[in-house]
Amino acid sequence: MTFESQLSHPIYKLVAQAADELGLTAYVVGGVVRDLLLRRHNTDIDIVTVGSGIQLAKATAALISPDLNVNVYKNFGTAQFRYKECEVEFVGARKESYSHDSRKPVVEDGTLEDDQLRRDFTINALAIALNGEHQYELIDPFNGIEDMKRKIIRTPCDPDKTFSDDPLRMMRAVRFATQLNFDIYPETFESIQRNAYRLDIISKERIIEEFNKILGCIRPSRGIKMLDECGLLIKFLPEVLELKGVERINGKGHKDNYLHTLEVVDNIAMSSTNVWLVWAALLHDIAKPVTKRFVPETGWTFHGHEVVGAKMVSSIFHRLRMPNNEKMKYVQKLVGLHLRPIALVEDEVTDSAVRRLLFEASDDIDDLMMLCEADVTSKNSAKIQRCFNNFAKVREKLVEIEEKDKLRNWRPPFDGEDVMHTFDIAPSRVIGDIKDAVCNAILDGEIENSREAALKRMIEEGLKLGLTVVNQPQ
Ligand code: ATP
Ligand code: MG
Repeated sequence: MTFESQLSHPIYKLVAQAADELGLTAYVVGGVVRDLLLRRHNTDIDIVTVGSGIQLAKATAALISPDLNVNVYKNFGTAQFRYKECEVEFVGARKESYSHDSRKPVVEDGTLEDDQLRRDFTINALAIALNGEHQYELIDPFNGIEDMKRKIIRTPCDPDKTFSDDPLRMMRAVRFATQLNFDIYPETFESIQRNAYRLDIISKERIIEEFNKILGCIRPSRGIKMLDECGLLIKFLPEVLELKGVERINGKGHKDNYLHTLEVVDNIAMSSTNVWLVWAALLHDIAKPVTKRFVPETGWTFHGHEVVGAKMVSSIFHRLRMPNNEKMKYVQKLVGLHLRPIALVEDEVTDSAVRRLLFEASDDIDDLMMLCEADVTSKNSAKIQRCFNNFAKVREKLVEIEEKDKLRNWRPPFDGEDVMHTFDIAPSRVIGDIKDAVCNAILDGEIENSREAALKRMIEEGLKLGLTVVNQPQ
């Protein structure tokens, strides 16, 4: 069987021509072959040759254009360039051997089979020859095609060795199983359970890179459950496991917050590709275990879990070496506000409550509403319907108020400088108090959203606090 028709990208013919001229044989190998066969989009093309990958890269690039920029990484023996939307990487076939105490393998030149053997899974070890007597034939020494048909993730050699050599591969196994909707082969799975403790030697950045790919899948819950079952999740995100279980007192139980969280995560992942929104879903109830109380009259409460949860977001992000920037603040904000829309409809949807929410959520209001709707996981369809009707009301109100007051990204029409100038005072807490009081008056609709009205109210607030007007505000 030949695979010529799968290789429609023009790069393959060019590599073949360059390899012929150099007297080498070139292969396309790894993830891109897997994806060609599974008809998945992949723009990272890996080319292997038995010989110098750098030389082959340069010769191929020369056929495209003398000006094409080739990035050469001499230390790794690789070279790479961009061509027609694809990153094309060239490497000489190599053999890797690991010693137990280091993740850095000893690398030597090797055969194509050596190169396939160093790859993590059978479905990632496929190669297609691009020239020579076996042109367009598939080279599949570990039955990757069979595993692909059976939808199985399996290591080409002894899994204990594969995972111990590079423990990141355990995360990759779960990631591929989730992305492709495959199962991990039992022997491979048991080996991950045995080797999960080795994840400690992998950097948090690399773990999170894989985890984020799991969160980017259509049904992340499947991957998260697998990470739990094979003992990996507890190594980097034990807080999520704390959500597990139902406690009962006097016959009253609460919902299992782990299963609930997974449902919310799936609800979001189905309708959004924003991985930070999925993180917000994953962490929205993260403080429930630490805020859980049983109150005899009312049952279980998780009072303040959104506030404590928002604080936990920054410590979790910090520990996992995740961004400490607007992404983290975004997740924090959504966790902190996730009860607000529903609280809002429990009484009556007042203009001032909506205005306040719009002010606090700002541009993230749509994501917050999405999170809140995803958070509805009741089994009771009447209850679900009631919630959605309420959210629809909130959304209507949001549009109405947004049009009227333009509160998204709202900046108060005065600032601390005005307070300091008017009352001739140095920076101090009282300035913040006055500012808050005036902003609240605007958000509550007590005064108009104008500079004039704000300054007037600012003076009133200052006088109430015993300050004296020294300069007239301008
Ligand atoms: P994706 O691009 O979606 O991350 P991929 O399979 O293409 O998936 P890459 O990281 O791009 O993964 O790597 C390309 C190929 O290199 C893989 O298919 C695999 O053959 C090999 N590979 C990558 N990482 C490892 C690893 N940690 N251990 C062994 N082989 C690996
Ligand atoms: Mg890739």
